Amino acid sequence: MLDLSNYKVVDDHCHPFLPTKESKPFPSYLKLSDVEIPQQDVVNTFLYRQMMKELSRLLGVQGCDEEIIKEREKQYKQDPIEYIRLLFSDARIDMMLVDTGYPSIESTGYSISIEEFRKIVPCKVREIIRIERVLYSLMRARLSFNSAVDGFHKQIDEAVSNGAASLKTIIAYRTGLNIKRRSENEAEMAYAKLALAVSEKRSVREVLSAKTDLVKTVFDYFAYLGIEASRSYGIPFQIHTGFGDAPMDLSLSNPLLLHEFINDHSVKNVRIVLVHGGYPFTEESGFLVSSYPNVFLDLSEMIPFATIGAVEKLLNLFEMAPTNKIVYGSDGFNIPEFHWLASRRVKKSLSKVLDYLIEAEELDEEEAKKIAQHILFENAKKLYRLSN
Ligand SMILES: [Zn+2]
Repeated sequence: MLDLSNYKVVDDHCHPFLPTKESKPFPSYLKLSDVEIPQQDVVNTFLYRQMMKELSRLLGVQGCDEEIIKEREKQYKQDPIEYIRLLFSDARIDMMLVDTGYPSIESTGYSISIEEFRKIVPCKVREIIRIERVLYSLMRARLSFNSAVDGFHKQIDEAVSNGAASLKTIIAYRTGLNIKRRSENEAEMAYAKLALAVSEKRSVREVLSAKTDLVKTVFDYFAYLGIEASRSYGIPFQIHTGFGDAPMDLSLSNPLLLHEFINDHSVKNVRIVLVHGGYPFTEESGFLVSSYPNVFLDLSEMIPFATIGAVEKLLNLFEMAPTNKIVYGSDGFNIPEFHWLASRRVKKSLSKVLDYLIEAEELDEEEAKKIAQHILFENAKKLYRLSN
């Protein structure tokens, strides 16, 4: 059996966390949904089982789940930096690209800057700029349309000068992936109406959460502005595809909805990354990645959240997607364990898939190792042009 546990990883999509912000019991974090989930359901998931099994090994606790969690809480509370170092060196995380759009004032009541996060992790960190975060800040500042467009470019310019490695959109959560090209006029009018609603003392979050034509027009327009920025700075544009935290509407995030967007002339020379492999629409994602030279995908969130299905899902992707266009990511958030677990699990699942393909005489061992190293590390270095 291939052993990939010592392979280094670049995590191309994850989120910052802070030990001081942890306020709930550990098992409450072991789910994806923002909807309250009963504890008895959480502990009966394979995600929970896999987390406990891995923690038991790492912490050397043979006892029941309560004892494992007790030891975890003790170590994380006593010396968070040392505990994070233990996890990250076990996972061999070399570099992380971090979406600072979550946590956010709107969703959790606080945000974490890239500088704050760098202080607590033992690896290289580069930022991912979430374009909706920028848009929200401009609307909150009550800017006119023209000033907002200027401000948008200015904020991105500043972030890129400070080393940001990618842009990202979460439009799938809002008005969906069926992104349409909008004229400046159309966008300006829609923006003005939404700005008026904000000035009538409704929160930006509330106004932009409605799935109306006006909101869609503004989000679509700024997605294209994001593409323009990605092209001019030569950095990739990540697109949230597939599942995410409920109550999201999964029917709006099927990557096939990107058809018009991907085929737009302005998008063709920008490197697009289908984040989360479009899970559960993995064959669809593989098809897109195989069909367009500028479309890539990452495995974040799919691993670890697809748990025992990861092997099958990786095979689905491999059916068509070139393996040089698949990159590892965790989508880790809130607690350091997701960043770690994803790396542990992707290596296990990948080694099972590659063993199967060796057995089936589709690959030899040398080729299999190369594919693993590329997906875990090299592909991201090339895609995001990460020299350090
Ligand atoms: Zn994410």
